[in-house]
Amino acid sequence: MTASNSSLAFNSEEILIGGKWRPAENGATHDVYNPSTGDMICKIGKSSAKDVDDAVRAARAALDGEWGQMTAVERGRLLMRISEAIKNHENELTTLEAMDVGKPITQARNDAVAMARYFEFYAGAADKVMGHTIPYMDGYMVYTLREPHGVTGHIIPWNYPMQIAGRCIGGALAMGNTCVLKPAEDAGLTALLFARIAEKAGLPSGVLNVVSGVGAEAGASLAGHPDVDHISFTGSVGVGKEIQKAAAENIVPVTLELGGKSPQIVFDDADLDAALPFLVNAGIQNAGQTCSAGSRILVQRGVYEDVISRMSEAISKLRVGQATDNLELGPLVSAKQKAIVDGYIDSGKESGLSIAAQGVMSDDLPEKGCYIKPTLFRDVPPDHKLAQEEIFGPVQVVIPFDTEVEAVKIANGTEYGLVTGIWTENGARQMRMAKAVKAGQIFINNYGAGGGVELPFGGIGKSGFGREKGFEALYGFSVLKTVATKHD
Ligand code: NAP
Ligand code: MG
Repeated sequence: MTASNSSLAFNSEEILIGGKWRPAENGATHDVYNPSTGDMICKIGKSSAKDVDDAVRAARAALDGEWGQMTAVERGRLLMRISEAIKNHENELTTLEAMDVGKPITQARNDAVAMARYFEFYAGAADKVMGHTIPYMDGYMVYTLREPHGVTGHIIPWNYPMQIAGRCIGGALAMGNTCVLKPAEDAGLTALLFARIAEKAGLPSGVLNVVSGVGAEAGASLAGHPDVDHISFTGSVGVGKEIQKAAAENIVPVTLELGGKSPQIVFDDADLDAALPFLVNAGIQNAGQTCSAGSRILVQRGVYEDVISRMSEAISKLRVGQATDNLELGPLVSAKQKAIVDGYIDSGKESGLSIAAQGVMSDDLPEKGCYIKPTLFRDVPPDHKLAQEEIFGPVQVVIPFDTEVEAVKIANGTEYGLVTGIWTENGARQMRMAKAVKAGQIFINNYGAGGGVELPFGGIGKSGFGREKGFEALYGFSVLKTVATKHD
C-alpha cells in the first residue's frame, strides 16, 4: 500500500537498507490485516537472510561515516530533531497504528507521544554518560570510557510497537550505535513510517535499517548474524531462549524483555478509591496485551468482597469496539491471539472457576474482528494456569490471602518477575513488601504498567534480564573500557 493519509507517503512493501528503500529479496511480501475488521489492508516487505545481511553491512559501514564522527551533543541534537518530527507526524502514526494493531485511537496516540518522549529523553541523556577515574597504585592514572557496541540488532513485538522502538532505538542511538530493527510481522507499518520520519529529520544513511518480515527468517538471521554486536529483544520467553542461544554462538550480549504475570496486592488498609482505576486499567490497557499487565489481583480477606464488587461494577461497564470507535478496548491484534485468549477463558470455565464480571461488546462489530470481552475470574487457585501463565488478553484473576507472608508467597509464586503493585497505607509494610517481592519494577499505591520513560524496566526470573528505559538502559547499550596509564 501507499499510505496516502501520510505526508510521508510510503510503500509498505519496501524495507530500508543503507538509506535506500527497496523491496525485500525477490519482492517477497506478507499480508497485513486490520484486526478491527479482519480485512487485509496491504502487503509488507518480507526480508530474507540476505536482506538482513545487507542491513547489517550497511549498519557496520555507517559507523565509519558521518555518524561515527558526531560528538555526543550532536547526536543528542539530532535525536531531539527526531523527537520533534515524531510529534509533527503524531496523527499519521496514530491512525496507522490503530489500523494495523487495533488500538483504540487514544491508546495509539499515547504510544506515538511516548515514542517522541523517548527520543526527547535520550536526546538529553546522550552527552551525559560519563566514565569514572579510579584510585589505583602510585604512578597510575586509571579511567573508564563508555563506548558504543557498534551494530545493534532490535527484535520487537506487536503490542507496543512505537513505544518499544522508541526505547530501544532511542537508547542505542544516544550511545552512538547503529541499528537494524526487525518489527513484528503483525505490526510493521509504524516502524517503516518512523524510519521515514527519522530519515527526514537528518539521521544519516545506514544508521537505522528496517527489515520487516517474519521471526523465523528475518528475526532468526538477525539474532544469529556474526557481525551484530548487541541484541535487544522484547517478546516471549520461548523466542527469548532462541535469541540467547543464537547470540551465544557469537558471544554477543543480549537484553531480554520477556513476559510477566504481574501481581497487584491489595491489603485491608488500602485506599480502595485510589486503587480501583489501577486495578482495572492495568489489566485491560491495550486489551490486556501488555507484558507488565497487573492482571493477578491478590486481595486480603477483609476487603475481598468489596474489591470484587467494585472491580465487577467497573469491568461490566467497559466497552469493546473498533479502534476508530475509541472505546476502552479494541480488538486483540490477530485472530491467532484471540484464539489463544478464548482458550484461556474456556479453560477457566472448564475448571469451574466463576466469572465475576465481563464487559460489553458494541453492536454490529465486524464478524472477522478479533474481539474479546474483558473478563474477571474470582477465587482462582494460585496454581491454576489462569493465575500462572501470561494470557496476553483482557483477563484478570482475583486471589484471596490472609497474611502478608502468604501474599508474598503467592506474589512470588510464578516463574516471572516483571512488575508488582502494592496497595497499603502502612509505611513499614510498603518497605518490607518492596524488598520481599520478586520484580524488576515495584509500584506502591500506584501502578504504571511499565511506568514512565525515565524508569528503568526489566525482569527477574523468566521475565528476562538487562534494563531498558531510563538512563540505566544506556549502560546496556554501551561497552565499558578501562584505561590504565603509567606515568611515574
Ligand atoms: P514473540 O513471538 O516472541 O515475537 C517477538 C519478536 O520476535 C517478533 O518480532 C517476532 O517476529 C520475532 N521472532 C519470532 N520468532 C523468532 C525467532 N525464531 N528468531 C528471532 N526472532 C523471532 O512475541 P510476540 O508474540 O510478538 O509478543 C508477545 C510476547 O512478548 C508476550 O509474551 C509478552 O509478554 C512479551 N513482551 C514483553 C515485553 C517486555 O518489555 N518485557 C514487552 C512486550 C511484549 P514475528 O512477529 O514474525 O513472530
Ligand atoms: Mg495487523
